[in-house]
Amino acid sequence: MDLYEHQGKDLFRAHEIPTSRGILAETPEEAAEATRTLGGRAVVKVQVQVGGRGKGGGVVLVDSPERASEEAARMLSADFKGHEVNRVLVEEQLPIAQEYYTSMLLDRSAGSYLAMMTAEGGMDIEELARTRPEALRRVHIDALLGLRTFHVRELAGVLPSQAREGAGDVLRGMFQLLRERDATLVEINPLVLLEDGRVVALDAKVTIDDNALFRHEDLESLKAAFPIDPVQARADEKGLQYVKLDGNVGIIGNGAGLVMSTLDVVAQAGAEAANFLDVGGGASADQMATSLEVVLSDPAVAVVFINIFGGITRCDLVAEGILAALDRVDAQVPVVVRLDGTNAEEGRAILAEAAHPRIVVAATMLEAAERAASAANGAAA
Ligand code: GDP
Ligand code: MN
Repeated sequence: MDLYEHQGKDLFRAHEIPTSRGILAETPEEAAEATRTLGGRAVVKVQVQVGGRGKGGGVVLVDSPERASEEAARMLSADFKGHEVNRVLVEEQLPIAQEYYTSMLLDRSAGSYLAMMTAEGGMDIEELARTRPEALRRVHIDALLGLRTFHVRELAGVLPSQAREGAGDVLRGMFQLLRERDATLVEINPLVLLEDGRVVALDAKVTIDDNALFRHEDLESLKAAFPIDPVQARADEKGLQYVKLDGNVGIIGNGAGLVMSTLDVVAQAGAEAANFLDVGGGASADQMATSLEVVLSDPAVAVVFINIFGGITRCDLVAEGILAALDRVDAQVPVVVRLDGTNAEEGRAILAEAAHPRIVVAATMLEAAERAASAANGAAA
């Protein structure tokens, strides 16, 4: 889960990483009021989960509440690089002496944390790592050893001397945040040295490990602030594993492995998945109906491919589930069904007898994929 800048900065403050004073605004009036509270001058920053706001007009310095209101009105009235904008962050203007970059992340390939720091602020960090690797200090931090003084000295040593102490405090705060909040990334770009010598995080990018959200109720509740895809919300509510993709074949399967191989076989047959949904074990009529509802509510779906391997799940019950589901959901597209495993024959017989106009029964996974692909490509043509 990627946090918005303002959410990341709330975490920064909780972990004693200095930030600028900021007030969240959802309307131009609130932005003007916030600017008044901050003394009449401010920085208005669009809150979206995409970088490059500074260059794209998403970060603007204003010198009056009226200007803040105008800028907020402009930002709130349009998407920013295709991302919906619901709020802006109004921050105090700070006198910046120098801009740096720092980040800490979980380095899965190394099995440890990786911390980076450079005095070259405002640079694209991948570009810097490629062209001037000596300017980017990289230090691995063993998870059991934790962040030690020698790590901090090594990293902060890349900065001018007057920034090192402040930067060290920031690094300690970042590591504490990483560990205590199960973050996989904390990035500050820019980290700035102010004219008065303080070192402050001017931006915040924080990613929280989704698998750890259950132990951070306060972070889980931040999800409410994110724009919601209605199809995804329906799947989440029903406890179904649903993933949206770019093609036009809707895929329903039972078990993650089967669903993944279904994606492959559809690709092999020359089509692309619009989404995939894992119904998990059981696959009751109700579950199947909800799954079909979810998959069919994606307007990109031109055909549905239901691929079930009966184990504990019995294919005859799945077949009844599919029929019950099609009573509830009015499918406008073909539904290709492949049943194999426990009671597959009984399942296929139930579907054959029902002779539902939308259902196409296929004997093998490849045949089903080919039928789904030709329906999908026919629809696309
Ligand atoms: P990003 O471009 O989306 O990463 O947005 P940032 O939050 O990093 O802001 C982009 C740039 O705006 C920074 O690099 C700063 O140069 C500038 N900026 C942001 N806040 C302030 C501020 O309080 N004072 C001044 N003078 N500049 C700021
Ligand atoms: Mn930034």
